[in-house]
Amino acid sequence: MLERIYRKIKKFDNIYIFGAGKVGKAILEQFMIIYPDIKIKAIIVSDLKNNPLYIYGIPVFEINSINFCKDTVVVLAVYEKHIKEIIEKLTKAECDNIVKVNSIDLDDWETAKEEYECLPEKFLCSQRYVQPYINTLIDLERIKGSDNDKIQESIENKINDLYNKKKLDIARLVITLGSKCSLRCKECNNLIPNFVPQRDYDYEKILSSIERLVSLASSVLKCELIGGEPFLTDNLYKILPYLINQSKIHSIEITTNGTIIPRRSYISLLQNPKVRIRISDYGTIVNQVEFISFCKKNHMNYTVLELGKWISPGGVNKRNKNIKDLKREYGKCSSGYLCKTLHENKLFSCSRSASLYELGYMIEKEYVSIDEDTTIDMLKSFFTQGYSFACDYCDLQVKNRKYVDPAIQISKINT
Ligand code: SF4
Repeated sequence: MLERIYRKIKKFDNIYIFGAGKVGKAILEQFMIIYPDIKIKAIIVSDLKNNPLYIYGIPVFEINSINFCKDTVVVLAVYEKHIKEIIEKLTKAECDNIVKVNSIDLDDWETAKEEYECLPEKFLCSQRYVQPYINTLIDLERIKGSDNDKIQESIENKINDLYNKKKLDIARLVITLGSKCSLRCKECNNLIPNFVPQRDYDYEKILSSIERLVSLASSVLKCELIGGEPFLTDNLYKILPYLINQSKIHSIEITTNGTIIPRRSYISLLQNPKVRIRISDYGTIVNQVEFISFCKKNHMNYTVLELGKWISPGGVNKRNKNIKDLKREYGKCSSGYLCKTLHENKLFSCSRSASLYELGYMIEKEYVSIDEDTTIDMLKSFFTQGYSFACDYCDLQVKNRKYVDPAIQISKINT
């Protein structure tokens, strides 16, 4: 079916897809994977409200902002029930060339995608590196109060850099500061109760690794500082001035359980506009009233994360999943896209991966050492890898995920 469409549209200079929903996204994926010579100019929607601004690095525009000319073709990728109405809209907008996608089985496409041993480099780059950067940029622009036009302008100014092989831009870098924690959560994804004794990580290694990453990158949109509990470690107060003073680092988040009141002598650092405190809501397990009123009273930026059910990551044993499952799970996991984690002088695919390796549970050496020999090429290949062995020690994205109450406390460690 796609071959028929490919033959019809390949002669056009301006190729659009109408539809940013599941069908539109699946058709875009198929073009990017099966016919990478087809360049999709943009995705069109009736209304940008409730639609993403970009998909896989391709902009999404409202129909009334497109100038349809003779050399334009639109591939109609929406559910059958919307087709008549959209053809009317396109005809009214003087679009002469419309190609309909007759039907698409989304499950079949998901299965077919898993069969690819290696997805094209450009697709992996768009999916795992460009789009996460765009999403993070959108988050930061929205916090600043920018409108959609301003956001799309900032992204368009950046997009060529993102595809430039010689440049590195990091959407989000998670930095582990130490394993000391005031709680012992049974389902801690980062296995913090398993660290015995709990300790502050080596500050010199953390600092020199961040310096190296910052020297290689053109920008780091977010640095997320995690523990254990970050407010229990001196490393937090030592690293903040450095991160705040780096112009390439756009924002800093500190993820806390809200049990430890920050040290008063460092309040001015925490009040810096680049810094935001993310308070994980642990429901009745933790009384965060004092912490939240401290943030309010001292005019610190903070967000209370919604309390929901947690998904159990399961034990620390190796599951022996096949490569298809590893690809599917890593491809679905937001941590795999946005939580590349710096643990002392090693960069891991997510924070669970860092803990699994540090604790000796994960046997695969799946990390990039950060030192003078680290290159942009090495980091970009790591960012765009198709799967991670860490998912073989994790149930977060398995088909029958187990939902559990958040922050159940334990006295013994997870095995
Ligand atoms: S191990 Fe895999 S599934 Fe688990 S958090 Fe990391 S990337 Fe996600």
